[in-house]
Amino acid sequence: MTRRIGSGTLVIATHNAGKLKEISALLDPYGVKCISAGSLGLPEPAETGTTFAQNALIKARSAAEASGLAALADDSGLSVAALGGRPGVYTADWAERQWFEGAPGRDWYMAMGKVEGLLAQQGPEVDRAAAFHCVLAIAWPDGEHVIYEGTCQGTLTWPPRGEMGFGYDPVFVPTGSALTFAEIPPEAKHDVSHRADAFAKLVAEQFG
Ligand code: IMP
Repeated sequence: MTRRIGSGTLVIATHNAGKLKEISALLDPYGVKCISAGSLGLPEPAETGTTFAQNALIKARSAAEASGLAALADDSGLSVAALGGRPGVYTADWAERQWFEGAPGRDWYMAMGKVEGLLAQQGPEVDRAAAFHCVLAIAWPDGEHVIYEGTCQGTLTWPPRGEMGFGYDPVFVPTGSALTFAEIPPEAKHDVSHRADAFAKLVAEQFG
């Protein structure tokens, strides 16, 4: 039988305040108290995995071992079919500015442009299919773990459109929509997103 988190305290293995807020709100109705790895001063492990699941598990395990509590982590990204699944686990890295490109930090327009440039090299008939993936991992201090995977299929458009959302949202058109993720309000995105898909599976198994 699948192990459950019940209504105890859960460490959210992220140092991202936005993710903590979103995940806490999703779990609040089930009586789960969320605390962030950041507020406990836990270290951020290196994401050395080659799959979303491996990286989610690295983060969840590290937080569970360091805190002695159950921990939840997520890892997400964009896979482009014609690029063999890239950028995949390196989705955020493709936005990383190099020292010679000016101030350090993330440049999402550059990242979207990199994807588009590689697609353009394959000619106008290139397959523009892409998918966002989200993997949620829950780990317990004794080593047990569970994994939930969510996907959102779509196509890539160019140039970027829309002001909402984040990351690669302005170029991602989910299947069945004419608008990009950055052109629809967050609530509408949350109805169909990869994160919503993974959370629905988590909630069904953990609290169903
Ligand atoms: P991580 O899961 O924090 O390692 O980050 C994965 C990266 O994937 C993010 O920095 C975003 O660029 C991208 N990503 C994940 N989910 C979304 C989404 O819903 N919209 C746009 N970009 C996303």
